[in-house]
Amino acid sequence: MKPELDWAAAPPLSTPPAAAPAGGWCSLLDGLPHAAWVVALDSRRVVAANQAAATLLGRPLDALLDADALDLAASPEDQAWWAGAAFENLQSETLVAGADGSLLHALRSIGLIRHGADGVPTHALVMLCDRSAEHAAQDESERLLAELQATLEATADGILVTGMDGRLRAFNRRFGEIWGLPQGLMEGDDDSAIQAWMAEQVLPRPGEKPYAERLQAQQHGAAGATGERLELRGGQVLERVMRPLLSAGATRGRVWSFRDLTARVVAEERVEALALHDTLTGLLNRAGLAARIDQATTLTRRDGRGFALLFIDLDRFRHINESLGHATGDHVLLAVAQRIRACLRHDDVLARLGGDQFGVLVADADEAAAEATARRVLNVVAQPCNVDGAPFTLTCSIGMALAPSHGQAIEDLARHAEAAMRAAKEGGRASFRLHQARAEGDRRLHMRLDHAMRQALVGGRFRLHYQPQVDLRSGTIVGAEALLRWRDPEMGEIPPGRFIPVAEDSGFIVALGDWVLSQAVRQIAVWHNKGLSLPIAVNVSALQFRQAHFVDRVATALAVSGVPPRLLELELTESILVHDAEDALGRLHALERLGVQTSIDDFGTGYSSLSYLKRFPIGKLKIDRSFVMGLPDDESDAAIVCAILQMAHALGKKVIAEGVETEAQRQFLQDAGCDEFQGFLVAPALDTLSFEARLQRNRAAPPLPLPRIRLVGC
Ligand code: C2E
Ligand code: MG
Ligand code: MG
Repeated sequence: MKPELDWAAAPPLSTPPAAAPAGGWCSLLDGLPHAAWVVALDSRRVVAANQAAATLLGRPLDALLDADALDLAASPEDQAWWAGAAFENLQSETLVAGADGSLLHALRSIGLIRHGADGVPTHALVMLCDRSAEHAAQDESERLLAELQATLEATADGILVTGMDGRLRAFNRRFGEIWGLPQGLMEGDDDSAIQAWMAEQVLPRPGEKPYAERLQAQQHGAAGATGERLELRGGQVLERVMRPLLSAGATRGRVWSFRDLTARVVAEERVEALALHDTLTGLLNRAGLAARIDQATTLTRRDGRGFALLFIDLDRFRHINESLGHATGDHVLLAVAQRIRACLRHDDVLARLGGDQFGVLVADADEAAAEATARRVLNVVAQPCNVDGAPFTLTCSIGMALAPSHGQAIEDLARHAEAAMRAAKEGGRASFRLHQARAEGDRRLHMRLDHAMRQALVGGRFRLHYQPQVDLRSGTIVGAEALLRWRDPEMGEIPPGRFIPVAEDSGFIVALGDWVLSQAVRQIAVWHNKGLSLPIAVNVSALQFRQAHFVDRVATALAVSGVPPRLLELELTESILVHDAEDALGRLHALERLGVQTSIDDFGTGYSSLSYLKRFPIGKLKIDRSFVMGLPDDESDAAIVCAILQMAHALGKKVIAEGVETEAQRQFLQDAGCDEFQGFLVAPALDTLSFEARLQRNRAAPPLPLPRIRLVGC
């Protein structure tokens, strides 16, 4: 920019004053606002000067008079001028020695004074305007500008300054780097090309106006600071902040700063991914699945689409870890994860919830779809595995909960699915269970029963009744089944079918089962001591059987009462055998060594196979009442009963039928070769005294079965 100086106060140089005597020059010069002196051209001597000149040059006024003009201002330009090279008006910046000897910046002008009628110049008026202050200010502002520039260049952010008209006023190098501006655009001054480049780089956001339009609105919008996150086509993520550019209280434009957040976003995404994923399998973890369930719940609320949550737990995975090592365990978990993933639909979500537990969110699913998925999972998990040449088979237990029918909150669904999975485990593993929604009333009754049972055990309100078991050939009572009875003072007589499942659910069955065992053994001892020796069958729940010290408890109960172990029979459920096979086998052998008898209750309703039956030291099978009910007419019941009999006998096991209510049923069983039966045909479960009386009557004169022509053969 050109320096400006207010010369208004000075006489125009082109029209120098008329010649004046020396005194006249002085009064003229004193009226000027700047240092000035008049020099005679012929002698180059100062003929007049003002006080301002004396002050500026630091000399007495007298000393200026008659001084050589080049003494006062002697730049090369001055020298040339006085040498007569260019006798024209001169105005330029120059340096003069100031009062303290320092060099002063000054605007110096020399104007010719034409004197006389011929217009020939005789004098020159020299004026000096001290520009030191302006120069110092300019130096300072240049320094500040340089500092600002350096600061801008040093910042990690890209900075762009625009005027109110949107034109680019300045930007730093970082701005060019962040936006990937081509060198040509960086160096040129094509504002619209730069803006078009920027608009082109920004990834459009669905449902939002294009970047260029948003920018326009912000450029002309309210002057407050605004921020926005931009995603560029190259994958970078920028944070853009706009602030008004204020100057002297007025808004002069906008300052845009762009911060490259790419590394931070990538790190955040990585942290987020780690927080939501399982490191071993790379699947979502519990938190990740929870997030997806949350999304699914939103959809369910919006358009009613249901989904299912499957809780999968591998059966006896602990054994794999313990016997084959954790590295192999991890290997197996990975393989299982892959198998499950491969059998799911694209939209379903698989997660590892920890250890050997997986979760599946079955999208858009009702009960049938959830079941179908569970079957597929059961099937793929059960495919044989092979680790280092050692083949083995894994199974899993699955619990399922449905949204929205079983709840929408993640916690509810997860709790229900997990509880259903546990029920599947307790029911024998390698299967799936759907959560059974209990009505609020049911839940309360459940809690009430559980509480009342605990009170009843302490208060001695449980009794054992005994249902006779009869030999089919001789008609003699050869044993009895101990069945629990409970009368609650408020609720009255409660059948075991109602309270046993509650006790199994809460785990109270372990304490209750202990009581039944010791009570039954005590009763066996009483009868044994009275000469009424007969085996008594005691029902044992799966949970009770799985207790670590179960066999010890049986042994202790027998030892304490001194009862011969063969007089105790334990009625086990099929599920015990199918799914805890190795563990169960160990216990059964221990019980066998103890001399205790064992039987399988409700046989035919579970999944036990021939191979299981062959392996286990079980003495007796009890045909479930449901197969006896249809006898003798129902062909399939008849066929099943015959099949059980043939199979059991082939394996050297005895068979007893339960729930025999009619003579026709009894006869069929006898004809088919069944060994024993129990049922209302003979007697329901009787209290101790009634049973004892019945036993004594029976022993005195056993009712002989009528000989009969065999009608149904097996
Ligand atoms: P369960 O072990 O299969 O016992 C046979 C059930 O059938 C008994 O029901 C018995 O009273 C009933 N019953 C016997 N003969 C007939 C008949 O001819 N017709 C009909 N309709 N029913 C007959 P209860 O006493 O109600 O017991 C039901 C179940 O409760 C038992 O089935 C058993 O699973 C369980 N339970 C009973 N006592 C105990 C126990 O001490 N421990 C355990 N864990 N469970 C027990
Ligand atoms: Mg039973
Ligand atoms: Mg039974």
